[in-house]
Amino acid sequence: MPYSKNDRENLTPRERPTPTLSIVVPCYNEEESLPFLLEGIDKLNENLLATGRIEQPLTLWLVDDGSADRTWELIKTTTARFEISGIKLSRNHGHQYALLAGLMQADGDVIVSMDADLQDDPNAAGEMIDHYRKGSEIVFGVRASRTTDSALKRKTAQGYYRLLSILGVDLIPDHADYRLMSRKARDTLASFGESNLYLRGLVHKLGFQTSIVTYDRAERSAGESKYNLRRMISLAIDGITSFSVRPLRLITLSGFFIAAASFLFIAYALVAWFMGETIPGWASTTLPIYFLGGAHLIALGVIGEYIGKIYTETKARPRFIIDTTIHNDANETAKPEAAPNQKAAE
Ligand code: UDP
Ligand code: MG
Repeated sequence: MPYSKNDRENLTPRERPTPTLSIVVPCYNEEESLPFLLEGIDKLNENLLATGRIEQPLTLWLVDDGSADRTWELIKTTTARFEISGIKLSRNHGHQYALLAGLMQADGDVIVSMDADLQDDPNAAGEMIDHYRKGSEIVFGVRASRTTDSALKRKTAQGYYRLLSILGVDLIPDHADYRLMSRKARDTLASFGESNLYLRGLVHKLGFQTSIVTYDRAERSAGESKYNLRRMISLAIDGITSFSVRPLRLITLSGFFIAAASFLFIAYALVAWFMGETIPGWASTTLPIYFLGGAHLIALGVIGEYIGKIYTETKARPRFIIDTTIHNDANETAKPEAAPNQKAAE
C-alpha cells in the first residue's frame, strides 16, 4: 500500500483530526498465526505513525473465542510497541460474536476489524483511515480477487451473493469482516440487539457515509481455516433469514401457483369424466402426493427456520460472555514515549 507524506499534506483543513486507532481481531485456536499477526500489526503501527495517520500507537484488541490451544497464554504474556488488550470469552461463541465482543469494548476513535490470519492485508487500514478523515463513518475492505480461494469456494460465494440479491438482501460482494467503523457507527451498531448476528449485513444496514477500499486477500499466514462447512452454511443461512422475509413470501406464492394448477387439473379431470375417458390414474394420484408432501416439508422447514430465529431472539440472551479482560501496555523499553500517550488515550 503506498504511503507518503504527501498524502497527509493533501488533506484539506475540513478533514477530521487524526484519530486514535483500535484494531479488533477475533482469535480461535490461533497460536500459530498470532506471531505473524503481531509482526504485521507492528509494521502497520510503524507505517501509520510515520505517515502521520495516527499520532499515538494503536491498540490491538485480541478476543480469545474460547480457544483450546495456547492462544490466551500468548495474548496474556505478549507485549509490543503498542498496547495489547485481551478479552477472554467464557467459551467458544463463534466468529461473529467474538468480533462483536471486541467491537463493543474497543475505545479508539476508529475501530478496524480483521482476521487473525493476515488474510486481510493490514496495510489497507491506512487507506481506510484516509477515507474516515474525509468523512466516511464506515469503510468496507473488499477483496480485489478471490484467487487464493478454491474454485468451489469462489463459485459458491458468487452463487450466494446472487441469491442474496434476488432475496433483496443488500450486501457488498466480497466484503467479509475487514472494515473500519467510526465510534459513531460502532455506537449505532450497539443499539441493534439481535442475537442472530450477520455483521456484514448489519453494518451495511446502518447507512451513513461509506466507502470501499480494495485489497488482495492473501493465503492464511499459519494454521487452518476455523470455518468448517457446517459453520459456513449456518452463517449463510443467517445472512438470508436475518435480512429477508422473501423466502416466506415465495412459499405463499408457490402455494397459490400449485392451487391454481390443481384447479386446472380438476377442470381437466371433469371434462375427461364427462367425455367418458376415465384414466386408470395411478401416476396422476401418487405423483402429486409425493410432490406436495415434499413441497410441504420444505415450506415447513423454511417457516421453522424463521421460528427458530424468533425463539432465540425472544430469549434475548447475552450475545457474548466475557471471562477476563487484560491490558498489556506498550513495551516501554522498545518505545519509551509510547506509554504516556497510551494513558491519554484511555
Ligand atoms: N474465529 C473465531 N471463532 C470461531 C471461528 C473463527 O473467533 O469460532 C476467528 C478466527 O480465529 C479468525 C477469524 O475468525 O481470526 C476468521 O476465521 P478463519 O480465518 O478460520 O475463516 P476463513 O478466513 O477461512 O473464512
Ligand atoms: Mg481466514
